[in-house]
Amino acid sequence: MKRSKPWKNAGNIFQSLEPRTLALAGLLAWSAAGAVEKPNIILINCDDLGYGDLGCCGAQDIRTPQLDRMAAEGTRLTDFSVTSALCTPSRAALMTGKYPGRVGLAAGVLRPDATNGLAGCEATLAEVLKPAGYVTGCIGKWHLGFVQGMRPMDQGFDSYYGVLHNLDKFETICFEQEGGMPVLRGNVVEKRPAVPAEMTGLYTAEALKFIEANRGRPFFLYLGHAMPHLPFDASAKFKGKSGRGLFGDVVEELDDSTGQILDKLRALGLAEKTLVIFTSDNGPERNTPGSAKPFHGGKHTVFEGGLRMPCLVWWPGHVPAGRVCDEFMATLDFLPTFARFAGTPLPAQVDGFDQLDVLLGRPGAKSPRTTLYSLYGFGQHRFESMREGRWKLHLGAPPKLFDLGSDLGEATDVAAQHPDGVQRLQALAEHIRGELKDRAPTGATR
Ligand code: MG
Repeated sequence: MKRSKPWKNAGNIFQSLEPRTLALAGLLAWSAAGAVEKPNIILINCDDLGYGDLGCCGAQDIRTPQLDRMAAEGTRLTDFSVTSALCTPSRAALMTGKYPGRVGLAAGVLRPDATNGLAGCEATLAEVLKPAGYVTGCIGKWHLGFVQGMRPMDQGFDSYYGVLHNLDKFETICFEQEGGMPVLRGNVVEKRPAVPAEMTGLYTAEALKFIEANRGRPFFLYLGHAMPHLPFDASAKFKGKSGRGLFGDVVEELDDSTGQILDKLRALGLAEKTLVIFTSDNGPERNTPGSAKPFHGGKHTVFEGGLRMPCLVWWPGHVPAGRVCDEFMATLDFLPTFARFAGTPLPAQVDGFDQLDVLLGRPGAKSPRTTLYSLYGFGQHRFESMREGRWKLHLGAPPKLFDLGSDLGEATDVAAQHPDGVQRLQALAEHIRGELKDRAPTGATR
């Protein structure tokens, strides 16, 4: 049963929230800094796309001219992280601005038989933007709950099109008796089975339709691509074209998709009115051609290769063009940043920070983020890290400390030289752990 969301039907959302949830200081700062234009927002979240898979981030064997142009016309973040190198927890943090443990989704990915997921009482990006008049659309992979009360249209989205789950064999097997993995429109099956090679094209067409249909009013579109998660595949137009085999073809199709979206915005005169963000939910899968260069590790780890994401931010005339920004940010920060556009008070216990001044390149703006806690897995396969600025501690016995300022590849353990730093980061992690739920996963697997 879905629990009520106090701000959803309230005439005065300020009255409906606890005083401590109002983030009053943030709102006052917002007023003092001057209101910003309320843009449309498109958040493109790829699946298992690594830092080293884009031309603008260093890839030599995959051509991404549209994303390279997006970076040249906007800002590319070099120190942007997810909280967890796994689909469900990463998306939980992105969608709520909270550590996944705070919403009970820290451990494992949800399989189709899962009855847990993102609780209806949690505020999503869509629910933070809706009170400000945004039309909200969700296209693509959700992976935050599949039962009534947890699906996109139960969580603040006005429309949904896509596959709620992964397309790998662990999930498709659950739908074999029904004719294959369903593609939903709203909560109704529109097509089955979902075909991996078709997904980027289908999602792109839906995104273009959504933009066209809502051109006259503020909109928020969350586009969760299925690719390049296993089983990755590309449409015929892109197959055999890249220098990195089928994986590269898939990324080149994602590049083309993003180009079509930006071209649509330009054609409709919406470019200067639309903030577009392109990123990924976690680093590359093991034993695939995905690249996390120059970082070590990938998905299923707490190394930077799993956590550090490509992130392009585009809003012509507002977000500086041609800028490479090394301020420390995380997916947790989207919700507070978007809330500022909407003038919406923050939900309680948000772990993100408003990064708007940094993204807009305002003079002297610095990221308020100094720390990030990361967790992957559970049981024997539990890995944790705690970052504070340039320092990153891999918790465990013994703990290992890395200086990202000089060692992005996390190759040289300097714990012995910095015992005070180890203690400080352990204490930070312990404090955050103490705040987070660490529920036993239900219907979840590593
Ligand atoms: Mg993923």
